[in-house]
Amino acid sequence: MIEIDGSEGEGGGQILRSSLALSIVTGKPVRFTNLRANRNKPGLMRQHLTAVKAATEVCDGAAEGAELNSQELTFTPGPIRAGDFHFDVGTAGSCTLVLQTVLPALLYADQSSCVVVEGGTHNPFAPPFEFLDRTFVPLVSRMGAKVELKLQQHGFYPSGGGRITATVWPKESSRPLCLLNRGKLLSRQAIAVVANLPVDIASRELSTVTKKLGWAKRCLTTIEANESPGPGNVVMLSVKYENINELFVAFGKRGISAERVAQKAIKHLNNYLRHDAPVGPYLADQLSLPIALSGGGEFRTCELTDHTQTNLATIKRFLDVETMATSQQDGTVVVTIR
Ligand code: AMP
Repeated sequence: MIEIDGSEGEGGGQILRSSLALSIVTGKPVRFTNLRANRNKPGLMRQHLTAVKAATEVCDGAAEGAELNSQELTFTPGPIRAGDFHFDVGTAGSCTLVLQTVLPALLYADQSSCVVVEGGTHNPFAPPFEFLDRTFVPLVSRMGAKVELKLQQHGFYPSGGGRITATVWPKESSRPLCLLNRGKLLSRQAIAVVANLPVDIASRELSTVTKKLGWAKRCLTTIEANESPGPGNVVMLSVKYENINELFVAFGKRGISAERVAQKAIKHLNNYLRHDAPVGPYLADQLSLPIALSGGGEFRTCELTDHTQTNLATIKRFLDVETMATSQQDGTVVVTIR
């Protein structure tokens, strides 16, 4: 039984999701205490409960303590099984974070699986659908996995009601990942999504992108996502290089002008463009687990965030791997897992 103190390191939901994924893949049971101790509302929220439920379903596992606000949980994994799964967060909680809990496990099933997750598809403090689709999945593919994602319906806070489907094929081989340089810039795209809100909001956001970044009209995309049950607005800035496609976001909020929303996304992008490391701060923590499960590798990132350090520490609790973070002269950091 692996004991995880959820208050260690970053102390949020990631330690739960990563541990569940690793528990399933390694077959090692895990007991958590102090879950999400460092968050305003500690303990398990709906999104985390859905992740626990998803984890039990993909491996016929058992969970004790899976209740709202619970800070303690014991999870005993069973054998991984492929299948058609449907998980509904029931709130605007993030679908992508639920998916990330079960994706690693389903890569080790003996047949392909189809997973439908309902909830939020574009949430602050979580990867938006496009991040998973453009940034994360292509890198996991490079390590030997085959995953296909579809955004069927947008879901924003607070209404939720979005839907993502994922088809996951069993992994046939594992390849280490080496991601130290971006390579040549291939394309850029600014996407402004408005759901049940005036399209003028998206136009103003994209004009701000043109004004501040000088991106040409062909790089700008407006999506009217009126199939979403509730209102919502997000600006996404995607930069595609030979070796990496990074994506930065900002969310519309009542009382914040469209111009300011766009500027927030631009600020995140500019922080990334200020150095030449391929891996942005969010991707760094999310990439560590698939790398550790795929025979190791290395990547260069702009900074070693608390999330990344916590995830590396969690990985070492389950797998016999060494991790190293080496600061470079230019201020970037090379993370090695082997
Ligand atoms: P936690 O705060 O522990 O629930 O973890 C949140 C997860 O969401 C981490 O893996 C972050 O890297 C990820 N995340 C948060 N914001 C973004 C973003 N804007 N783009 C991509 N991933 C994000």
